Amino acid sequence: MKEKIKAYIDQLGPKLEEMSDRIFDLAEVSCQEVQSCKLLEDFLKENGFHVEHNVGGMEHSFRAVYEQGEGGPSFGLLAEYDALPMGHGCGHHMQGPAVIGAALCIRQLAGDRPYKIVIYGTPAEESLGGKIIMQENGCFQDIDIALMMHAAPDTCVDIKTMALENFRVTFHGREAHAAMNPEKGRSALDAILLSFHAIEMLREHVLEDTRMHYTVLDAGGPANVVPGKATAEYTLRSYNTSYLAQVVERFKKIIEGAALMTETTYTMERDPAYSAKIPCLKLNELIMDNARAFEAPHLAPPREKTGSTDFGNVMYELPGSCIRMAFVPSGTPAHSQAYLDAGKSDDAHRAVRLSAGILAGTCLDILEQPELMDEIKADFSERKAQMGESL
Ligand SMILES: [Zn+2]
Repeated sequence: MKEKIKAYIDQLGPKLEEMSDRIFDLAEVSCQEVQSCKLLEDFLKENGFHVEHNVGGMEHSFRAVYEQGEGGPSFGLLAEYDALPMGHGCGHHMQGPAVIGAALCIRQLAGDRPYKIVIYGTPAEESLGGKIIMQENGCFQDIDIALMMHAAPDTCVDIKTMALENFRVTFHGREAHAAMNPEKGRSALDAILLSFHAIEMLREHVLEDTRMHYTVLDAGGPANVVPGKATAEYTLRSYNTSYLAQVVERFKKIIEGAALMTETTYTMERDPAYSAKIPCLKLNELIMDNARAFEAPHLAPPREKTGSTDFGNVMYELPGSCIRMAFVPSGTPAHSQAYLDAGKSDDAHRAVRLSAGILAGTCLDILEQPELMDEIKADFSERKAQMGESL
């Protein structure tokens, strides 16, 4: 089977690479992925997929479905295509072509077994966390597993991702001249400083892997004026989504307390929350077995710790995993000039082909051995239950 996959991907290769290069050149940033989205949709329509444009309340998103028979597994393949202001410095241009390659390959080699493939085009990963909005609006309920690829320095999978909550808080005090009549002032900046200090105190009394960061966005003006208005940003993270909800409640008390102490008021803006993925080691193993079978470069152990991603929200609800596919030297950071420079290289093209093969291989393994899907689902449910109990 692996030989057949390789041969078919080689046949598709030039077309996939051309799409990847075109999306790289378009370099459309978050929320403006008009042409990149259309290019993928057009190709899928030409190839017999049923394509819906703008799904789940997100512009420049799509859902493309191909179904054979009834009652088989439903494979979800997700693709981002947004660039950074610098260009495609995170390698998202490779994702659409890679999952399309995987989908066509599954279709070619599935025989007459029933199955469904759903490709989701998920825009605005870098800015809004597009998948969170799409999920809130009913997307990803029609798939049994969710698979992605992401360009990387090493070929591996992730075990965890971090849940994240982000807040912007503006304190409102009373402005006054700092020398003439400071007693009339109520400092919005003091409230911010007290909240920062309280977070440092809280740090000792939370689970070890809790992350809390903060910064001042607007300190309120020069030193000789008691600032009447000042704004800070706070980010809270944990590997456990339920635990983070507890930390958020404690954080809110800090903000309330800071306002109370300084006789200020506050307004709070809260961004959409990122969930932590539920690790699905069974699915990870299957993907890495395929990565070895396809002789992927720079094979590395699974990453125990990572940052936050909107794919985490999808993988909180259903089993999912992302193959990180090597195309730059080990140690190269994402969002870097090195990523950008390698975007259309032979190594990038190889990454598109290999990840198409690995994702197709993973799905075809599940089709051939249906018990694998049961094991993946059982592994997911067990770990999700454990997450709640560990608190
Ligand atoms: Zn990325």
